[in-house]
Amino acid sequence: MPKPAVTLIGAGLVGALLAALLAQRGFAVTVYERRRDPRVAGYAGGRSINLALAERGLHGLRLAGMTGTVMELAVMMRGRMVHHRDGHTELLRYGRDDSEVIWSVSRGRLNTALIEAAENAGARFEFDRRLTSARFGDGVTLAFEDEAGEASERHVPFAIGADGAGSALRTAMNAARPLGERIEPLGHGYKELEIPALPDLPESALVPEEASALSRGDVFAIEPHALHIWPRGNYMCIALPNAEGSFTVTLFLPNEGDPSFATVDSPAAARAMFERDFADALPLIPDLDKDFAANPVGVLATLYLDRWHLDGRALLVGDAAHAIVPFHGQGMNCGFEDAVELADLFTANAGDIASLFAEFERRRRPNAEAIAAMALENYVEMRDSVADPAFLLRRELGRLLASRHPDRFVPRYSMVTFTRIPYAEAFARGATQERLLRELTQGRSRLDEIDLVEADAKVRREIEPLAA
Ligand SMILES: Cc1cc2nc3c(=O)[nH]c(=O)nc-3n(C[C@H](O)[C@H](O)[C@H](O)COP(=O)(O)OP(=O)(O)OC[C@H]3O[C@@H](n4cnc5c(N)ncnc54)[C@H](O)[C@@H]3O)c2cc1C
Repeated sequence: MPKPAVTLIGAGLVGALLAALLAQRGFAVTVYERRRDPRVAGYAGGRSINLALAERGLHGLRLAGMTGTVMELAVMMRGRMVHHRDGHTELLRYGRDDSEVIWSVSRGRLNTALIEAAENAGARFEFDRRLTSARFGDGVTLAFEDEAGEASERHVPFAIGADGAGSALRTAMNAARPLGERIEPLGHGYKELEIPALPDLPESALVPEEASALSRGDVFAIEPHALHIWPRGNYMCIALPNAEGSFTVTLFLPNEGDPSFATVDSPAAARAMFERDFADALPLIPDLDKDFAANPVGVLATLYLDRWHLDGRALLVGDAAHAIVPFHGQGMNCGFEDAVELADLFTANAGDIASLFAEFERRRRPNAEAIAAMALENYVEMRDSVADPAFLLRRELGRLLASRHPDRFVPRYSMVTFTRIPYAEAFARGATQERLLRELTQGRSRLDEIDLVEADAKVRREIEPLAA
């Protein structure tokens, strides 16, 4: 059977990986992208500057033959470096050792490398083509506009929307037949700031012990191999390293209340908050005032849809189908899983597109809903619980039980981050494990107060072994 031609809207992270995987498998792929070609015009950002890549995302890149290129650009992050209010820091490792880490990558470089790989495999990109509307009849008629306002149309049998959280294809599909769309705002937003590389920082920025801990040739002003967190209860800052030595700092604040983006609404107010709440970070951000004034407040929300496809004529993938809040660092990773699953379905049976789209939605939607829920829960963990002794005790016990029962008890964070156990299964197993940890640590404050014989018996009784 001849392979169908595939039309994608959006050459972001997910669209570009999907284009690469399909083109490598012999499909004729055309991608329409709103922005200009990043290889010519430079990368026009939008969302976060860097992001955390974990096993699910790496798997997709491996299949596309991209790990070599990407890992050259990546910085390893071993765990969360928690910056407490009193200034002391501690590293909470993500996994057992350096085989269980995550990687900070530049969004722009990763996106550009994926476009390059897709094009090398034969995918065709049309840049500066913003989808403005779509009409569904016998197939789909796509209407585009370029930057100069010039309109054009294409008629294709079906289109796949990888055009992100504000998807224009989704809007058109929803108008043709409601998708059951719900957008739940988080009520918190974010703003990006920068810790420059060491040579670009004024000497006065470093406290003496930090300065003496650095060796000649260092370019990172703080520990490079960590995701830094300043948890402050209802709000927080995080910082991810960039390969050339800087860190991208993201300040997360509620939209209302105090402090919030309503009260911290000027560089002076931001400086006052940093002096009070993030005192050790402030000297490292010399352009705080400029960054705060120039960078917009990003909106955070979760997107839920009851349907991801319009029979065999249109399908949504990645953020267009399931945008989530960024606190598990999984939005792209989940979208890369979508790309792999969809490319596999096309490869196995590209005959009946409506059944293929329905099968994709059946496989992926429960998993997307599970990671959406876990990402929301992780916000509380990051901004609040990492400084909570009861949470830390549960975490310590969880790690001990994981070492005693590696076939049954895997911390939820590890299942999500270091394995490809379906998100829905990780969510369900995580709930059982959390209940068990709460029961075992009830009224205890130290690990040696916990009855391990009882704990072992509970694990064996209540948690099924993982499938091999
Ligand atoms: C602050 C923040 C931090 C994050 N951190 C992480 C992280 O650490 N790890 C992680 O895995 N995920 C993270 N994410 C999530 C991640 O950014 C998204 O899940 C990912 O970008 C989704 O990729 P996508 O290709 O579906 O959408 P996008 O990356 O949004 O790409 C959509 C593409 O479609 C194009 N487009 C849009 N509209 C049109 C149109 N009308 N016509 C044609 N083209 C169009 C856009 O220009 C873009 O190229 C984070 C998100 C945020 C906001």
